[in-house]
Amino acid sequence: MKKRTLLMIPGPIEFEPSVLSALGQPTQSHIDPRFIEVFGRTLEKMRKVWGSPAGQPFIVPGTGTLAMEMPAANLVEPGDRVLAVSTGYFGDRYADILSRYTDRVKVLSAPPGETVTAGCIEEELKKSDYSLMTITHVDTSTGVRMDPRPLGRLGRRYGVLTVLDGVCSVAGEELKQDEWELDVVFTASQKAVGVPPGLALVVAGPRAVSRWKNRKSRVSNYYCDWNQWLPVMEAYEAGRPAYFATPAVNHVCALDVSLDTVLREGMAERFRRHRLVGRAFQAGIEALGLKQVPFDSQSRAFTLSAPYYPPGVTGDRLLPRVREAGVIFAGGLHPEIKARYFRVGHMGSTRLTDVMSSLGALETALEECGVSLIPGVSMAAARSIAVSEDS
Ligand code: PMP
Repeated sequence: MKKRTLLMIPGPIEFEPSVLSALGQPTQSHIDPRFIEVFGRTLEKMRKVWGSPAGQPFIVPGTGTLAMEMPAANLVEPGDRVLAVSTGYFGDRYADILSRYTDRVKVLSAPPGETVTAGCIEEELKKSDYSLMTITHVDTSTGVRMDPRPLGRLGRRYGVLTVLDGVCSVAGEELKQDEWELDVVFTASQKAVGVPPGLALVVAGPRAVSRWKNRKSRVSNYYCDWNQWLPVMEAYEAGRPAYFATPAVNHVCALDVSLDTVLREGMAERFRRHRLVGRAFQAGIEALGLKQVPFDSQSRAFTLSAPYYPPGVTGDRLLPRVREAGVIFAGGLHPEIKARYFRVGHMGSTRLTDVMSSLGALETALEECGVSLIPGVSMAAARSIAVSEDS
C-alpha cells in the first residue's frame, strides 16, 4: 500500500495536481506563440497577486536567493549606504548579499523571535543618508512577521528604496505592494505561489526602475542585470519572443496555472484562509503547552509556525515519529536556537483538515516521546478558532 505523507514544511509545499500536470507537459519552444501568450499573461497575473498594477514583474530561472540578489545587484552601487533589517537567518543573509555590492551595510537586528520596530528603523534612517533598506516580511527561520505597511511609507519619507523579501509571504500574507509603497517585493516559486522550486519572482515598482535607470556604474552581476531581463519581460508581454537566457518553460506554464488558482480564490479570501489555518495551528500547539519562537502573538506569521520542543524532547526523537505518523515537519534553522525548536509550514493550498492531520500526528509523536497530554486537545483548540472566525 502506498504510504501517504503530508508535507508541512515552509517550502517546498504540497503542490496542486493541476500545477504538477502543467509542469509535466511536453516542453514547448520558448518562442512558440502559445508559450509567448502564457508568459505574457503570467506576468500580468503577478501584478494582481502582488497588488502592484504599476509594477514591473520579472520571472527568472533560479531560487529565492537569486530573487534577493536581483534588487541588490541592480539598485546598490559601491559606496551606497544600505540598511538590512533582520528578524532572523534570511535577514542576515540579505546583509551578506548587500555587502557584495557596497561596504556600507548597517544591520539592524532583533533577537530571535522579536521584531524590529518601525520606531527603531526610523531612528536609524534619520541618522544617515541611506539609499535602500531590506526587510523580511516573514523570516522563515523564526516565524516572525514584520508589518511592511508603515515601512514603505517611512522609506518614501526618507528617500530610501524599500525592498521586501516576501519569499515566505507572497500569496499567503496580506500584501498590497503599490498601496503600501514598497519598491521591490519578491518570492520564490516553491512557497505560497505554489510551483515546485525553480523560479525567482520579482516585482519592481517605478521608483526602483527609475533608480536603476539612473545608476552611475554598470551592474556588476551579469545574470542579475535588469538590462538583460527587462527587454525580455517587455517583449513577452507585447507578444514577441526575446532571448537572454532560456526561460524555464515548464515552470512558467505551471506558474500560469497556479496563479489562476490563486486569483480564482481571490486575494482577500486567500489571506483570510491563511490567517485561519495559521491561527488554528497556533491555537493547537498552545493547547499542547508548547511555547513559540515569535514572542508576541501579533507578530506570528500565518504561513508558518515555529514551536519550541517541550522539556525533555529533542528533534531527533520527535520529528521521525511525526513522519511515521504521516506528516513531515522541518527542524530549526536559526543558528542561536536551532536545536530547540521546529517549523511547520501551512501555506499555499493548506486547509483546516491539514492542520488537524498535523496536530494529530504531533500529538501521537509527543505521546510516544513520553509527553502526557489529553488526546484531541490541540484539535479542539484549532476547531474553536475555525468556529469563531466563521461566526
Ligand atoms: N528568503 C526567505 C524568507 C526564505 O524563506 C528563503 C528560503 N526558505 C529564501 C529567502 C531563500 O530562498 P531559496 O532557498 O529558494 O534560495
